[in-house]
Amino acid sequence: MSQSKEQRILNFVLQNAVRGDPCSVLDTIDKYCSQKEWAMNVGDEKGKILDKTVEEANPSVALELGTYCGYSAVRISRLLKAGARLLTVEFNPEFAAIAKQMIEFAGVQDKVKLLEGPSQEIIPQLKKKYEVDTLDFVFLDHWKDRYKPDTILLQECNLLRKGSILLADNIIFPGAPDFLNYVRKSPHFQCTNYPSHLEYMKVEDAMEKAVFLG
Ligand code: SAM
Ligand code: MG
Repeated sequence: MSQSKEQRILNFVLQNAVRGDPCSVLDTIDKYCSQKEWAMNVGDEKGKILDKTVEEANPSVALELGTYCGYSAVRISRLLKAGARLLTVEFNPEFAAIAKQMIEFAGVQDKVKLLEGPSQEIIPQLKKKYEVDTLDFVFLDHWKDRYKPDTILLQECNLLRKGSILLADNIIFPGAPDFLNYVRKSPHFQCTNYPSHLEYMKVEDAMEKAVFLG
């Protein structure tokens, strides 16, 4: 059977990046995906917005929806303070297997827990099964039609506290209009827009930060 693109990305990292060095892993993925094959990692340009938002949130508990190959999980976890953890959710078993190896190679496995399954099933289990009280930071980067229902689910499950920061990727391309409409109109969120470009492309994109006000 021929290799998948995701397997080729992982192989390129295993052969070219420095084991245990998250920045080297990120640079190597960015190099492969800008020069060889496009892939849906958040990438370096929007990655810098992600970094700033993680630093602002300084989370003890962070959640990522949509792991893919583990690029943003490595990116977020390298910024976490001692004792903090990232839970990252992926429903595609092939991608989850790649991400596990990527996270391990980057040396951030002690900070990251990969939860395999659909976000709509995992979110309601976070409190009891994964001992989450509230989430300090949430990165939404899974399928765009799940941004709004999963945000509502996070609220319904009491996983957000005053000051919890949500960051949503790809709000222009491919776009998440129902999510944007929801958070921008809600009195429970304060929103900020960060214009940028689609990963590894000149196409316009943006991220939206939505701070939960309680
Ligand atoms: N955040 C990753 C990064 O920047 O490196 C990219 C994530 S990729 C854009 C979206 C991923 O979300 C895909 O791997 C897809 O399989 C996963 N996904 C989509 N909908 C999901 C859902 N409802 N629950 C869990 N995973 C989902
Ligand atoms: Mg994205």
